[in-house]
Amino acid sequence: MLATCTFNDFDLRFFADGTPLDEAAHESTAEVIHQRIWIDGRPVEQGHPVDLISLVRSLYYPGEFYIFTCGCGNAGCAGIWDGVLVRHEPHIVRWRLRRPVSSEGFGNDFSDDYEQWKGRSEWIEYAFDRDIMIATIAERLAAVRRHPMVPDGYSPYGVERRHLEALDPRGRLCDVPWEDHDGPSLFFLADESHRFLLDGRFVAHGELPISEAYRRRLANWLEGNHARSREAGQRLAWLEELRALLLDAYRNGLPRDFALWLMFWQVDEQGRLDVWHVEKRTINVEWLNTFAPLPFPFVCLAADHSCFRLWMDHSPEAKESHSNFISQGGRSDVPLMLPFALEEELSRWAEEEPTTSADGTGIASNEGRDSANADAVRWARFHQEGIQLAERIQALVGTRATVVYERSWSDTATNLPRRIAVGR
Ligand SMILES: [Zn+2]
Repeated sequence: MLATCTFNDFDLRFFADGTPLDEAAHESTAEVIHQRIWIDGRPVEQGHPVDLISLVRSLYYPGEFYIFTCGCGNAGCAGIWDGVLVRHEPHIVRWRLRRPVSSEGFGNDFSDDYEQWKGRSEWIEYAFDRDIMIATIAERLAAVRRHPMVPDGYSPYGVERRHLEALDPRGRLCDVPWEDHDGPSLFFLADESHRFLLDGRFVAHGELPISEAYRRRLANWLEGNHARSREAGQRLAWLEELRALLLDAYRNGLPRDFALWLMFWQVDEQGRLDVWHVEKRTINVEWLNTFAPLPFPFVCLAADHSCFRLWMDHSPEAKESHSNFISQGGRSDVPLMLPFALEEELSRWAEEEPTTSADGTGIASNEGRDSANADAVRWARFHQEGIQLAERIQALVGTRATVVYERSWSDTATNLPRRIAVGR
């Protein structure tokens, strides 16, 4: 017997100042055109604006998307701290979200809204027919573009006509606003049956511009190592090998203008694979140039609010502005393949970043002096570990750049130099 799947019905409806757009007179004007998502014939989350750019982006790859947002375009401003979790299967787009989407008003005061909301909101899942969903969204976007009404603005704030013009779920991801790459977008869904998603379309390995020998090598490796992907002790090594193998696609026919990502399930706090939380990691073709100098002479490491940052810089001096940040939160885009295991160590280290005791009075009490000393000891130990990690990054970088450890700005307890070049 065939497995049956009941799909939810997805619709995107546009309104001009509250009037359905198809009922609005062609010659009339409106302050704002906004949109609502209707599921199974009802509006969902009526109160929250729909971010069309996130919605369209979510049709191209899995992950967490802030599809519901604040009128200003910043979801957190409306108490929306968790996005819609989206998964892709060949015929299905799945959503999982908590309702209501906003944590506003759940707590006794603003500070515990989120925790209260996590306990009291309900999880809901939807399954949409992939082809119908994409066609519906494409058609609704085309209709609003065809409509002659030119409103004063679009929703949420910041969306402009040119963004609306660029949105086509049947086009290419790189044309979606704020994508910073060109060319086709290829996602390898490692835990979702090893499928490739090319600009929103599932493709067989044989359809890709890769050599036959490489295609066989990839298939053999995946088959031979499938079991390791689920073993906690093997997981990182499995991902590391897989990433190196995917990078090799560029040596075996994959054109350099293809943007390639490795997508895999995160491990939750209990050590289980969480199918809804997907990591998105760039496979950077620049990683192949293992001997060429890096674009900037300095690779900098710093801890910042429990995350580590790794970025490139042209100056050995500390700067007020971190304008050359190219990565944050452990997701490195420095053209350097940082091993997953080292990345994990960096994350663990950054989470231990001390917080300076808030004496802050300027009065030299004994208590203040004691806590200042304790702070200095904690920070010194933290920096020592940070410098050791920076040395390991230097070993990977070799002579291509100098690794610099930057003392975090929140350390007001020690008087170490702001920047220390390691390996010198
Ligand atoms: Zn806002």
